Amino acid sequence: TNRTFTMIKPDAMKNGHAGAILDKIIKSGFRIVALKQTKLTEEKAGEFYAVHKARPFYGELVEFMSSGVIIAAILEKDNAVADFRTLIGATDPSKADEGTIRKLFATSVGENAVHGSDSDENAKIEGDFFFSGLEQF
Ligand code: ATP
Repeated sequence: TNRTFTMIKPDAMKNGHAGAILDKIIKSGFRIVALKQTKLTEEKAGEFYAVHKARPFYGELVEFMSSGVIIAAILEKDNAVADFRTLIGATDPSKADEGTIRKLFATSVGENAVHGSDSDENAKIEGDFFFSGLEQF
């Protein structure tokens, strides 16, 4: 499909980058389908990242993602999933291309400013995790 899901993570929220990140997303041609500020409990963060349960950084990731408010959003554009991953850059900001959101705003591989879905299937699952059908325009 033509949708992806993103979160502006607690590090970027605390560092005051939310406005600049949303500006870059919109100027890159993504339309906002749904958007909210919210805070994940540890339980909800654990559920969202359940696919990473076996990874060594899972505990750290769940703790970090529940450490402060986030912005969750569903975005629409042709080729949304792939184009958004190009816009955010590599997971590790030190390896991210110049001009990408992670290069500009991320702190470290763990505290990396934004999430972007890795497939159309996960984009739908992740968007529905945060938003009901009635909230998606
Ligand atoms: P995302 O799914 O958030 O868009 P990604 O697909 O670039 O990120 P994944 O490998 O799926 O990266 O990891 C998910 C998240 O787990 C990363 O965004 C990062 O916050 C965290 N993470 C990944 N690798 C590490 C690591 N080595 N140490 C700490 N945290 C990590």
